[in-house]
Amino acid sequence: MTDLNYPHYDVIIIGAGSIGAPTAFFLAKAGFKVLVIDKFPSVGQGSSKRAIGGIRATHSDPAKIRLCLRSIEIFSSWKENYGDDIDWFKGGYTFVAFRDQEEKTLKELLRKQKEFGLNIDWLDKEAFLEIVPDVNPDGLLGGTFSPDDGSASPLLATHSFYRQAVNLGAEFHFNESVEEIIISSGKIKAIKTNHATYGSDFLINAAGPWAKNVAKLADIDLPVNPDSHEAAITESVAHFLDPMVVDIRPQPGSSNFYFYQHSTGQIIFCITPKPNIWGFDVEETSSFLPMVAKRMIEVMPRLQNIRVRRTWRGLYPMTPDGFPIIGWAKNVEGFLHAAGTCGQGFMLGPGMGELLLRFVNNSLTAQDHEILPFVAPDRDFSGQELLK
Ligand SMILES: Cc1cc2nc3c(=O)[nH]c(=O)nc-3n(C[C@H](O)[C@H](O)[C@H](O)COP(=O)(O)OP(=O)(O)OC[C@H]3O[C@@H](n4cnc5c(N)ncnc54)[C@H](O)[C@@H]3O)c2cc1C
Repeated sequence: MTDLNYPHYDVIIIGAGSIGAPTAFFLAKAGFKVLVIDKFPSVGQGSSKRAIGGIRATHSDPAKIRLCLRSIEIFSSWKENYGDDIDWFKGGYTFVAFRDQEEKTLKELLRKQKEFGLNIDWLDKEAFLEIVPDVNPDGLLGGTFSPDDGSASPLLATHSFYRQAVNLGAEFHFNESVEEIIISSGKIKAIKTNHATYGSDFLINAAGPWAKNVAKLADIDLPVNPDSHEAAITESVAHFLDPMVVDIRPQPGSSNFYFYQHSTGQIIFCITPKPNIWGFDVEETSSFLPMVAKRMIEVMPRLQNIRVRRTWRGLYPMTPDGFPIIGWAKNVEGFLHAAGTCGQGFMLGPGMGELLLRFVNNSLTAQDHEILPFVAPDRDFSGQELLK
């Protein structure tokens, strides 16, 4: 307790999802007194549990490449370091090309991706078919393959970050909603929830698709909007596919789609609707499955008889340019944005958590400063991420 009549924390995080949970873990590990507040009853109940578990460093910009390379190091060594199995599987990612324009886009990106340390190469048709033997050979030109990418369980991973953070002394308050941000002389002072008031030196907005509403409590207009995406899982079949397969060809109704086989045999898949479906509605549509099924069978005819077991819908915390928003709020000292992770909030989580710790303890590195302009809250948002 401070001289004020409410408890005081070094850092308060709003949101116990795939960003808030690892951030709490890294802050608590560094000795900070941390409180995480979430309006839902347990960890990962917002967008995080709806992610399909893809983890890649294969992006088109240095910020996401660097952050995800670090995330992959953390995910892949997590069981060894902390004892919790999070279903990490290093199956790699493939981006497949059936048309010259996708081949050109993917090949152009390779230079930058390699420059930033990605283990990735272009495979011609024959070599690609060795990695993904069941991809449709008709019209196949080849694709990129990044063998160090993979997948893990968003629920297991987020729960593990949560448990480990709690072991290190972090507090989590569930079923509690942040309703007010108290600012004094331009500085974060406290927050009010529907239950209590808590003081803090730093406040992190990790509120996922609700980040705009949270920023509004500090009179900040943060361009993060909820963008609906649907996913599905099939019955389990014998193992035949290692990497995630991504097809970035736009088609009527969708701009890309991706799928992989989980280690337990199910195919898990997702599509990016075009135009975007904005809003907080998470009821599934009847148009998703016929649209994505048609595209998947086209790319992998072998999937035509597999049975779908369940579909679901969730929200991408979307930014206008497809890049996350990470950094200090302009006019409120101590307020840190960790939002707008779009379709990559699970894979960005651990790398972002460490970066947020470096913001808080004032230890940003020269490498951090190289990538921060790409995710800065005050950038002009006119760019476009090519591998959203
Ligand atoms: C179908 C689908 C597939 C996806 N696949 C992948 C994938 O393969 N790989 C990947 O990396 N990403 C994927 N994503 C994206 C990923 O799910 C999100 O980017 C990520 O979960 C965002 O994490 P977050 O912690 O920022 O948000 P969330 O998990 O939504 O957490 C935010 C939390 O903030 C809390 N909150 C908000 N406002 C308040 C308030 N006022 N008071 C208290 N609590 C509050 C909410 O209750 C919520 O729990 C997918 C998303 C969808 C929908």
